[in-house]
Formats: sequence, C-alpha cells, structure tokens
Amino acid sequence: MRFTKLRLTGFKSFVDPTDLIIARGLTGVVGPNGCGKSNLLEALRWVMGENRPTAMRGGGMEDVIFAGAASRPARNFAEVCLTIDNSDRLAPAGYNDSDHLDIVRRITRDVGSAYKVNGKDTRARDVQMLFADASTGSTSPALVRQGQISELINAKPKNRRRVLEDAAGIGGLYQRRHEAELK
Ligand code: ATP
Ligand code: MG
Repeated sequence: MRFTKLRLTGFKSFVDPTDLIIARGLTGVVGPNGCGKSNLLEALRWVMGENRPTAMRGGGMEDVIFAGAASRPARNFAEVCLTIDNSDRLAPAGYNDSDHLDIVRRITRDVGSAYKVNGKDTRARDVQMLFADASTGSTSPALVRQGQISELINAKPKNRRRVLEDAAGIGGLYQRRHEAELK
C-alpha cells in the first residue's frame, strides 16, 4: 500500500484542482513562505479524517474551504482525494478488491463533510479505521508537526505509549475497545 497522489480542489489556497504526485522514494516540496507547503500536509491529514479545526490552523472546519482572493470568489466546497496504490493487496480487510483506493473527503458549506472510498459513501469512522489498521492516519507519528518533538519529550508516559501503539498499527484496536467500553 503506497500513497501515490493527493488532489486538492478548493482546499485552502489550492482553489483550482491541483495534483501532488507522490513518487517512490523521497518527495520534497519547496517554495516561498505562504505558498501552501503546510496546507498540503494538512490536506493529507484532513482526508484521513482529522476533525480538529485547530490541527488545520482554523477556528472551524469550514475554514479549509477556499475563502476567496482579490481576483477569485470564495468556494462553496473543498475536496481532497488521496490515491493509494494497492497492487500488493495489503489494504485492510474489506478494501482489497481493487488495485487502487481513492479516498475522497468533501466539505460543503452549511452541510459538513462526506467521505467516499472508490466512489462509495463511507462513514468518517470507517475511513479513520482504514488508516489506523494500516498503521497510519491523521494522528500518525509519520506526520511530524512543528513542535511535536518537544511535545513527545514532555508527554506523560500514557500519551507516549499511544504514539508507540499507533506506530505498531494497533491504534484501530484501541479505538474499537474504547467504543466497546462505551456501549
Ligand atoms: P511557510 O514557509 O511560511 O511555512 P507555507 O508554504 O507552509 O509557508 P502555508 O501555511 O501552507 O504556507 O499557506 C498559507 C497560505 O494559505 C496563506 O497565504 C493563506 O492565506 C492561505 N490560506 C489558508 N487558508 C486559506 C483559505 N481558506 N482560503 C484561501 N487561502 C488560504
Ligand atoms: Mg509551513
């Protein structure tokens, strides 16, 4: 399973559809301050189910929608599509009938977020679980935010254990146990 493409439409500063091709090996994103480098990483987190506006540097989730510029009116929706190469068929159970997965999240003003996996409506929780079971996701230790290293050093042992659990790919089990305990 490998991320191959991220497509942003109306997401933050990316008003026109923009593809980020994620090739094998290392992909670097360079550009002047404010050109949208961090927005790309936030789009990746968001499509994997991030639900905290603060993690998107916003006050509300709709702040991810292109807010308009001098020459362009604001948009009514934002959409991010993450394409995953699944030719090795290593996707978690239930998602293994195709060589690729297209995970789409769209937010529409006054309506909210909706997800699709290969064109099929999917619940937010199931998308989050899909990534958790694949040892990744919006809280994955593979995505390192500014300040996160010092947070980790200062974290309580219990929180630090969560990071290890996520890295080991058992975050999904942790979530399922939590939900079972609530029932
Ligand atoms: P730096 O090098 O300073 O870290 P960066 O390349 O990471 O910069 P970002 O923080 O990704 O830049 O992009 C910030 C830009 O995105 C700003 O110009 C901001 O106005 C724009 N932006 C953020 N949210 C929206 C939005 N909803 N609509 C339009 N533009 C937005
Ligand atoms: Mg930045």
